[in-house]
This record gives sequence, C-alpha cells and structure tokens, in this order.
Amino acid sequence: MNKKKSDIKQISIYKKFHCIGGSCSDSCCVGWAVDVDYRTCEKLTRIKKHPIANRVKQHVYFNEDYFSPDIDYCKIELRENKKCPFLNDEGLCDIQISFGEEALSNVCSLYPRVINRIDGIFERSMTVSCPEAARLILLEDKGLEFETVYESLDKLIITSDVWTDRKPYKNSEIVYLKELRDFGIWAIKQNNGSIWEKIRLLGIFHESLDDVIVKKEYEKIPKIIDEYRNRITNENVNLKDNRIPEEFYEQLMKFIELMDIENSVDHEKFKNYDKKFRQGIYNEPYNKIHDEYIAEYLENHKYIFENYLINDMFKNLYPFTFPESAMITFLIMTLKLGLIQFYLTGLSKSIGSINDEIVVDFIQAFSKVIEHHDTYISRVLDLFKKDKMIVLNSIINMQ
Ligand code: SF4
Repeated sequence: MNKKKSDIKQISIYKKFHCIGGSCSDSCCVGWAVDVDYRTCEKLTRIKKHPIANRVKQHVYFNEDYFSPDIDYCKIELRENKKCPFLNDEGLCDIQISFGEEALSNVCSLYPRVINRIDGIFERSMTVSCPEAARLILLEDKGLEFETVYESLDKLIITSDVWTDRKPYKNSEIVYLKELRDFGIWAIKQNNGSIWEKIRLLGIFHESLDDVIVKKEYEKIPKIIDEYRNRITNENVNLKDNRIPEEFYEQLMKFIELMDIENSVDHEKFKNYDKKFRQGIYNEPYNKIHDEYIAEYLENHKYIFENYLINDMFKNLYPFTFPESAMITFLIMTLKLGLIQFYLTGLSKSIGSINDEIVVDFIQAFSKVIEHHDTYISRVLDLFKKDKMIVLNSIINMQ
C-alpha cells in the first residue's frame, strides 16, 4: 500500500476505465491462471464457515516457483471449463461480492492497468487484452494523449522500475530511454503518410541507432534523434496508402504458419478468427481484397493503429522492451502491427465488411493470445535472430 501522493504520467483515457464485469466478452477470469499475492492468500486461507471457504481449500495453492510475494505467491487453479472457480454465473467475482474490492489479489485488482516507474516517476497505462481497455484505447479518435496527475497509488505492482542514471544502465543506451520513447511516439503521431510510411522512417532511424549502439557511441543518440525529427518533418511521403507493403508479406505468412494457431491455441474466439482469416486471404490476392473490402475503413480509422502502437510503446518501454536490442523491439512491434492488419484484411473478405466492433474484438483477442504468450514471443525472437536483416530490409525498402 502506497498512500503517498506523487506525480503520475498516464495515458489520458486511463481514468475512464471501469471493469464491465458480467458484460465482458472475454473476461480476465477465463483462460488465465490467477496470481494471488502473499497477503491476499493469507486472508483467503483464514476464511472459515463461509460458502467460499471450500472453494479456497480446493483451488488456492502455494506456487513453488513464485516470482514475487507481492504477485504470485499462490495461484488459483481454474476449473475444467477454464474459468476461475470464484467467477459466478453472472460473470461476477464471488470474493469481491462477499468481502469487497480490498479482498482481491494485487493482480486481480490491478488488471488491465500496468504501472511502471521510470527515474522515480510512476507511469500508468493499460493492456488491450481487456475488451473494455481495448475499446477505450483503440477508439479514441482524437489520438492517445498523455497527462500528469498528482495521486496516491493504492495497490502497487510495478512491472518495470528503471533508473536510467544508475547501475546497470549507467553508461548504456538505456540512459536515453525517455528521449527515444518520446521520439518514437512523436514519429507515430505525425500526420504525413500512412502508418507504414511512419514505420518505414522509424526503421531507417533504427538502422542509425543500431549503428551507434553497436559502437557504444551512446552520446550521439540525442543528435540522431534531432536529425530524424527534421527528416521526418521534411521528407517527401513515400507510402501514401495503408496496404501492407509487399516486401513484408512473406515474413508475415512465415510467422502465421509458425504460430500454428489451430493446434497450439486454447482460445476459441481467436481460433475462429484465424479460420475466417484463412478462408478470406487464401482465395484472392491480398491487394485486391485490401482495395475492395478494407481500404476505406483503414483510411478513415488510422488512429486505431496509431493508438495501438503508442500504447504499446509507452507501456512496454519502447525501444527497450526486449533485452536483445532496440532493433528487435522495433521489429517485433512492426510484426505485431503487420499481423493485425493482415488478419483484419482476410477477415474483411470472409465476413464481407469490417467495423469498429470487429477490429477492437480482434485486436483484444490477438493481444490476449499472442502478446501474453511467452512461446510466441520467443518464436518471433528466434525468427528474427535468423532473419533480422531480411525483415529490416523489407521494412526500410518499402515502396
Ligand atoms: S477483462 Fe477487463 S472488463 Fe473484462 S472482467 Fe477483466 S478487467 Fe473487467
């Protein structure tokens, strides 16, 4: 519990979020083992002579491999139907109903919020794997903005706590985390060209960044940022439409086959989307489907994809999400955007049209299945270790 007030930087729609509980289309209490912190676990196991005491005894167990006592000291075993045993038929939590919000575990009460602390300043964002957070973030048609509020944080699980001027980051590229992330978000927010034009320019920037990082010339980073701010502001737009550049298809197809959704995913909604995508995309050339079924929607809803990227960059500390390198972080972010748009194109053909509801629902399911799945992320990392230059070249040479 941290009752002290402090400055908190957050995405401005953060305060609008409220869990929609029983009306949720893909509850966080389904499909994921639930983490319970030490204090909550203690309180739950002390409950006697109450209808839920038996469920606690049956389903709450000590987690031998816990990562932190504040997070996953215990776990709640799901029922066979993959639902949390405390989720009732109305889709509400019996622990919360019986003992109030205070009785929820840190993870349950925090999700889908994400808290980081960078150089002592708290930051709050949300994950789009929650349907309500996805709706708020993606459909913000004026674009995602940030604000600073002065508040205390009740429950505190810090996902990333980084002090850029201290060991082990002192004398490394991480010193420039905030400057690089601000620049990346600024680049995505610019009005020139399609989302792929922004990605192409960011890819060229990453090439220069990679170069100074490899040479350990970190002090040159602010100069490169300035150079690219000018370049992005003044450069002629190369990619005007929102089609995924052809050079990038092959990589996307390769990854989609690698994912093997049919056999490796346990999420019915996503499996269904995958089936429909295949029915749509394999029957006609991508460009034809794009122009006929989704081009107009993409042109009028660029903000959805920009919001997705900006939230991802802010929440995951772009460009240092993956310890491998800033370049890998950029490539994985690009791959996720490509996959989302590729899937939506196939879906627009098989469903016959596309709308906000389908887009938000698909991105939410994609996030729950792919982004929260360590195996997929490590598969992408393996793929990129082998094909890094091919993927990068396909992005920066997009015409
Ligand atoms: S996924 Fe989001 S809206 Fe749905 S139950 Fe969980 S927190 Fe609430």
